[in-house]
Amino acid sequence: MRELTSTELSSFPSLDWLDIAPRVAPSLRASLEKALETQTGASLTLDEAYALANAEGDDLLGLLVAANMLRAELTGNIVTYVVNRNMNFTNICFVGCKFCAFSRGPRESDAYFHSLETMAQKAREAWQLGATEVCIQGGLPRELDKFYYRDILRAIKSAVPQMHIHAFSPMEIVYGVELTGMPLADYLSMLRDNGLGTLPGTAAEVLDDEIRHVLSANKLSTAQWVEVIGTAHRCGIRTTSTLMYGHCETPAHWVRQMRLLRDIQSETGGFTEFVPLGFVHQNTLLFAQGLARTGPTLAEHLKVHALARILLAGSINNIQVSWVKLNRQLSQLCLHAGANDYGGTLMEENISREAGATAGQYTSPEDFQALILEIGRIPAERNTTYSRINIKLPFNESAFTAEQSMEPEFA
Ligand code: SF4
Repeated sequence: MRELTSTELSSFPSLDWLDIAPRVAPSLRASLEKALETQTGASLTLDEAYALANAEGDDLLGLLVAANMLRAELTGNIVTYVVNRNMNFTNICFVGCKFCAFSRGPRESDAYFHSLETMAQKAREAWQLGATEVCIQGGLPRELDKFYYRDILRAIKSAVPQMHIHAFSPMEIVYGVELTGMPLADYLSMLRDNGLGTLPGTAAEVLDDEIRHVLSANKLSTAQWVEVIGTAHRCGIRTTSTLMYGHCETPAHWVRQMRLLRDIQSETGGFTEFVPLGFVHQNTLLFAQGLARTGPTLAEHLKVHALARILLAGSINNIQVSWVKLNRQLSQLCLHAGANDYGGTLMEENISREAGATAGQYTSPEDFQALILEIGRIPAERNTTYSRINIKLPFNESAFTAEQSMEPEFA
């Protein structure tokens, strides 16, 4: 099949399903029509999902248009974002993931470790600037005080009791369990009781142990990731879910990961959203050693978002664009390809910037609103769990609050 030019790809939002459907291969068209009709990715077989993940040319355009239609059916025309601050409390890390340009050895000149007082102060500043969430992750330093993660929560909650704390990757949770010797469920319950609101579903990268071994020999296994996430959900801690694409994985890995996430969601109902994370290759060992391609192509960026919309439909209905890894136009295109959420304003974002991403460290709520209005959609600020949204119409005085349940109740 002919490869689409970037101009052809970028103009897909102007296509209508009736324009493109006759040009899509009959079997692929039947799969897309079934997903549109049933509004659930569960209606597709594994082979149908693989075929969608490998779509090219007009088939790919059909996938993008169908994903956008399904997005409109499932989440309407609202595009949400959350006002938050990213707080990486340390960049010192012994794990050595080859895709990471953020971590430092303890003696490097730019290594840092923020005190509990600094973390509390940053949370206070964020609250004063309108943030409703702080997102906290960091490197894994050796000999970390064994209750440090709990103590970060206590410091922030005593400074700003109303702040939602979205913190600690499954890798950090595994480290906390190792440090304390506590059972996983007890450890997570302790964090919850000290103020942990939700957990980022990061450290997933690709949930396939062969690929994980290439990315990082020391990272938690697929089974450990699933165990941490499932246990968190059962402890009443909701999480996000992620996939890192554009390095050494194949489209089959995307499919299997999305289906695994569906399976977890059908058991626990604990995922709030799915976040595709494009690999930023510059400044990474993975790329320097010839183990990865140069990040995702435009077609891959769009395809992953669209595939997620189709395969996760009826299971995880919020698909986020990670704007720090994309440029302005690309993030808008991904919103046309099935996504409905812009993620967080972030205020400071170190991890993608160190790896070479250029989208910046902060997008103000006003910038988000403008980007969303530019593509004809409705901007709305949300809380972390999407249970409250505040629609932002072009004039501030028209803003109003709507309580809206966009997801099934957390089981
Ligand atoms: S991704 Fe996280 S765990 Fe891996 S090296 Fe970077 S900071 Fe450490």
